[in-house]
Amino acid sequence: MSIKAIFLDRDGVINKEVGYLHKVEDFEFIRGVFTSCNYFQSLGYEIIILTNQSGIGRGYYTEDDFLRLNDWMLDQFSLKKINILDVYYCPHGPEDNCNCRKPKPGMFLAAKEEHGINMEKSWMIGDKEADIQAAFHAGIPNTILVKSGHPIDEISSKSKYVVDSIMNSKSVIK
Ligand SMILES: [Zn+2]
Repeated sequence: MSIKAIFLDRDGVINKEVGYLHKVEDFEFIRGVFTSCNYFQSLGYEIIILTNQSGIGRGYYTEDDFLRLNDWMLDQFSLKKINILDVYYCPHGPEDNCNCRKPKPGMFLAAKEEHGINMEKSWMIGDKEADIQAAFHAGIPNTILVKSGHPIDEISSKSKYVVDSIMNSKSVIK
């Protein structure tokens, strides 16, 4: 298990948080995402995206809507020579009590098993405390909470680091 990964939440980390985003025209990349991902790749990390998409379970948009937007997003990464190893998404609502919705670690554990990820050498970058908790539950010690998405509570956060946005994670991941 020698593969190390940077796990990224999507909304609020990669793109601006707009609430139940599902259309390409509403998708706006956060500044510095591509240069940060290029940097992570140069350090030998694989990049994996893990995203809660309860808008599917709530009926606000369909799984096909999500996948269409996802394909478009992956194309944009590709154009910048960034390979996203995998994207995991939880389509369930909070009441479904599934094992994949963060703060549950299900998506992380699936990624670990499918790709042979060394969790101790990996990082999670998220904009919600649920991202940080899920990472800890999955055995990832290195966590970064960013301020570019949902409002955060920096004082009570269990995250190892708190930075403004993904591009500031370069000062932490070396
Ligand atoms: Zn789920």
